[in-house]
Amino acid sequence: MSNHATSSPILRVAVNVPLSREFDYLVPPGDGTPRPGCRVEVPFGRRRETGLILELADGSSFAPDKLKQATALLDASPLLDPDDLWLIRFTSDYYHHPIGEVMAASLPSLLRQGKGLYTAVERVRLADPAIDIEAIARRAPRQAELLELLADDALPTTAELTGKLPNWRRAAKPLIARGVIAIEAASAPDAIDVPRPASGPALNEEQQAAVDRIRKAKGFEAFVLDGVTGSGKTDVYLQLIETTLAAGKQVLVLVPEIGLTPQLVSRFEKRLGFRPAALHSSLSDSERLRNWRRVRSGAARLLVGTRSAVFTPMPELGLVIVDEEHDHSFKQQEGLRYSARDLAIVRGKRRDVPVVLGSATPTLEVLKHSADGAYTHLLLPRRAGGALPPALRLIDLNRYPTRDGLSDPLLETVDAHLAQGGQALIYLNRRGFAPTLICGNCAYVAECRRCDSRMTVHASQNELRCHHCGATEAIYAECPECTGTMRPLGEGTQRLEETLVEAFPDRRIVRIDSDSMQRKGAIDAALAEATSGDADILVGTQMLSKGHHFPRLTLVGIVNADQGLFGSDFRSDERLAQSIIQVAGRAGREERAGTVMIQTAFPEHPFWQRLFESGYAGIADDALTQRRDSAWPPYTRLALLRASAHRESDAFTCLESARQHLGSVGLDGLRVLGPVSAPLRRKAGRYRAQLLLESSDRRMLHRALASVRARLEEDRAARRARWSIDVDPIDLY
Ligand code: ADP
Ligand code: ZN
Repeated sequence: MSNHATSSPILRVAVNVPLSREFDYLVPPGDGTPRPGCRVEVPFGRRRETGLILELADGSSFAPDKLKQATALLDASPLLDPDDLWLIRFTSDYYHHPIGEVMAASLPSLLRQGKGLYTAVERVRLADPAIDIEAIARRAPRQAELLELLADDALPTTAELTGKLPNWRRAAKPLIARGVIAIEAASAPDAIDVPRPASGPALNEEQQAAVDRIRKAKGFEAFVLDGVTGSGKTDVYLQLIETTLAAGKQVLVLVPEIGLTPQLVSRFEKRLGFRPAALHSSLSDSERLRNWRRVRSGAARLLVGTRSAVFTPMPELGLVIVDEEHDHSFKQQEGLRYSARDLAIVRGKRRDVPVVLGSATPTLEVLKHSADGAYTHLLLPRRAGGALPPALRLIDLNRYPTRDGLSDPLLETVDAHLAQGGQALIYLNRRGFAPTLICGNCAYVAECRRCDSRMTVHASQNELRCHHCGATEAIYAECPECTGTMRPLGEGTQRLEETLVEAFPDRRIVRIDSDSMQRKGAIDAALAEATSGDADILVGTQMLSKGHHFPRLTLVGIVNADQGLFGSDFRSDERLAQSIIQVAGRAGREERAGTVMIQTAFPEHPFWQRLFESGYAGIADDALTQRRDSAWPPYTRLALLRASAHRESDAFTCLESARQHLGSVGLDGLRVLGPVSAPLRRKAGRYRAQLLLESSDRRMLHRALASVRARLEEDRAARRARWSIDVDPIDLY
């Protein structure tokens, strides 16, 4: 490749396209100075795209007359600093994913679309929060109506207000004149958070020891805060956050799903005296941009966010916390398949600041690092504030058959707990009414036309739904094969809810799963009922198991754990133990001790004995030994090459070609397994296959991936399939 030197620099730009390369452009017209970390508008094919300048080069492998000129410089100063750019490049390299798409994933969508950092909107603010709205309501009802809106909604834009109250400007006039409300341009400097910490509980010995140890970290060190459910991990975080903020640094807290843990954010706010900046999927685009900008400028001191928040620029980062480190939502499962937990560690290392990984059920990856001494293991072995650990009991389904999923001993115990003023949680990780619609005569089963899977019965909508592709059809009563009667088999959360309503007609029963929580605000309302104790029985999926603190909850019933006992994935045991311990951990978090009842048809299974005798740590120990003996992660590294196509042979041809290529490069110590059909062979009309790459040598694996990726991008036959690379996959399908 010849290199053409030029007088003015060449911009090396990431453009949001699925191509694994960077693009060279000439400096745009105008007098701004393009620098790395600034965005530029560039011509791309027939379109204009927003690109990010990664670096300035003094030459290009293309001749200058072949290079196009960027059309505009979008940022006068860099949005991202060199460390942020480094993280984007690292992510692209490590996950073998086009850098333009990494850039896009790391920026708020408005910036990705080329909008300014400051949007030219006006916001309306209640300038005098002490105003007596009721007094105004008597003489000026419209003014009062406007004030109510402003009191409820933090800083609505003028456009949003017009949507809610078309004539608000007339009511606003006198209020503005009196200084009660103010209209301000959003580009006014962002208010800076000022911590005013309130005191928390005095820490117990183990909590204090953990705080002391983490405070001693000089620069980067990874800590595993391995604390049983209810051990007060949040209070440990809070103390660390306080010290970090007091030292003038910013803190990044990653959480699985903020929508499910509004409690956490409000606890932070109460203790620290300001509202943390939040970044998560239920924000509007402009809210997201605003929070991102406040964090980037340093105005916001604490960021609490989900997965993609890990990329947010934080000029004064001093501490990273990953709460519920084991949670799967930290791994993105499509497109750029990154682990935010792992990138948090990478980022902490790069910035030389401590990283705390908290969980009651740490992943084996993390436990192995602490056994190896790479991470520091800190244990909180008991519940804070004197609460007792919940007692676990099995219900043998061979002795106690179930009616619509629930056994008599479980129902009786629910009754007893409610009678004593407790609250019960019934857990089943399967939504819908029933997982199967089957013919009572010939056993014909309703299947999805586009997937190799059964349709789930959603009785209240009188619908069958495929949980893989979303296809729906009406429930039918007659078997298409033999005209026998079709009926629902098995149970999902809807059916349990129905059974519970029948069994406890006078009780308040709240179902929490992704079907019942679709309406905006539904989750907040349901969680509020659960927390206040207004709800007597909660029934739901793993949405209910995440970090919640329901003071009245004393009983957890686990309806069906048996699928997990015989899972085919090498992570089955780890997962089952995690989900049981997490949901069990909701019981008895205050004065009254908790009970956990687990329905199983296999009470003799060794898993149960181990869990009862030595808890999660015992299961994790066993699983680690097994993984070492059978050379699975965390003792080896995996990557999965997936392909899908309408014709199954196209998916296989693509992977065969990858396999052959890997054979020809000759990498010792690389194991290649497959190609085989994915466990769900057909999804949404596409056949899916996979090739598993495994090595105990990380660099070897990455060399293989880089090489196979280059090959597939060239390979014409591979183009008939859609393929993707998943590094450190958590699901092998
Ligand atoms: P975890 O996140 O470890 O499950 P939390 O942080 O939610 O646990 O704490 C559980 C409960 O214990 C909370 O109500 C918290 O306020 C309380 N708590 C935490 N630390 C202490 C302490 N040292 N003394 C008394 N109560 C505490
Ligand atoms: Zn389907």
